[in-house]
Amino acid sequence: MANVTLTHIAKAYGNGPTVIRDVTIDVRDQEFVVLVGPSGCGKSTLLRMIAGLEDITSGDLLLDGKRINDLPPKDRDIAMVFQNYALYPHMTVFENMAFGLKLRNMAKADIRERVTQAARILEIENLLDRKPKDMSGGQRQRVAIGRAIVREPKVFLFDEPLSNLDAKLRGQTRIELQKLHRQLRATMIYVTHDQVEAMTLGDRIVVLRGGDVMQFDTPLTLYNRP
Ligand code: ADP
Ligand code: ADP
Repeated sequence: MANVTLTHIAKAYGNGPTVIRDVTIDVRDQEFVVLVGPSGCGKSTLLRMIAGLEDITSGDLLLDGKRINDLPPKDRDIAMVFQNYALYPHMTVFENMAFGLKLRNMAKADIRERVTQAARILEIENLLDRKPKDMSGGQRQRVAIGRAIVREPKVFLFDEPLSNLDAKLRGQTRIELQKLHRQLRATMIYVTHDQVEAMTLGDRIVVLRGGDVMQFDTPLTLYNRP
């Protein structure tokens, strides 16, 4: 189970202005929720708060009803895929995917099994010995997703994962993400400014503007209004 609940979340950076005003969203187990809105409306900030990368100024973030700050880090089953992939350039694909597991002292054989399995799902088994610089953007993106998958999180966060890909590859990867969502049966929260991505991927869509939730509904309801 992985329900993610945000209740009255607000955020200001330091003494700066409030950038997230009062956000309440319930993301259900295995749901695919997309956050859309214009640049600067607070999408990344919201996602980074869910990832634990950014302090929450006020409000509560719950994972299956428990305040996330009260959970030990190992129970915060949330992994994030970054827009710029954030791969370690000096490491091979295998090492990139294994790194987080090594840090947790997982046994070598288990690491190998998890990495191999994720590589199979993403069809990058033949790239495991490559370095990021010797791969295409689409391949790097898969490795970035692979690095999240090996952790077997219940919740995946994506920050504009397709924005650095060309149009054709974006379309393909979008379809693969849908497959992946079904296959992994995980909860996914996905940031984009692309309406097509939002409509095709989202079970429900959060429309953010100026740090407020304008709408939160299914694509059908949002985009088929007369
Ligand atoms: P989006 O992802 O929708 O483009 P962001 O969450 O990146 O929006 O930014 C929301 C607002 O917060 C913007 O006004 C941005 O300038 C500001 N902001 C984002 N990150 C920081 C930061 N680290 N320090 C100060 N202000 C920030
Ligand atoms: P994105 O659209 O992916 O959020 P940005 O260019 O808005 O990209 O932000 C890139 C980085 O700069 C982010 O880590 C964000 O937190 C930080 N940032 C954005 N706006 C500000 C700001 N006004 N002050 C300080 N840092 C910021």
